[in-house]
Amino acid sequence: MVSSLISRLSNSILKLEQTLNLILGFNRLPPPAYCLASIETNRVQPKEPFSLESLIGNGFLWAVPKHRRTIEKRLKMKYGSPKYVMKILQPKTNIRICNACGDHHEIGILCPTCYKRIMNETKDMKEAIQEKLGLQPIEKEVVVLYENEKSTLEGEYEGQPIVEMKKPRPSWFSKNLLQQTTQQPATTKDVEPSGLS
Ligand SMILES: [Zn+2]
Repeated sequence: MVSSLISRLSNSILKLEQTLNLILGFNRLPPPAYCLASIETNRVQPKEPFSLESLIGNGFLWAVPKHRRTIEKRLKMKYGSPKYVMKILQPKTNIRICNACGDHHEIGILCPTCYKRIMNETKDMKEAIQEKLGLQPIEKEVVVLYENEKSTLEGEYEGQPIVEMKKPRPSWFSKNLLQQTTQQPATTKDVEPSGLS
């Protein structure tokens, strides 16, 4: 009598549990199905002795550091040393202003703006010479004159080919730059002051 009561009670509890599982969403697994299960017959594998060759085979090892570098050395490698060469950007203190054009340039090198200006002028002169003389061999020094200079210096360059530029002479391009020095160097170094009064 008691055992049947207990079994009925347990059955009802089981049913209640299954119903709750269904309602609350627990235990929602796919239905059972057949599957294959393999059985490992050779479970214990013989242990091989450890060797680097078996590990990397035909490969090779990368070089790796063997010793720790100090922080000072690491910082020097990264940023350089103020005693030698700094690898990071440093402020330049050797910048000066050009007296002719007002552009900036480093000490010890020519002002790039003035240099470019003179290069362009020289290029124009070369083109003018080529246009005037063509493919003729240049045996004498060519005189390059600017606008309104030919009439004043007519008899000065006898026998020399004169090439006239079709523009006035730039103010910064002195005529003396083209003249060869014919004056002998002074034998005395005494300087006489003049124009003081
Ligand atoms: Zn300049």
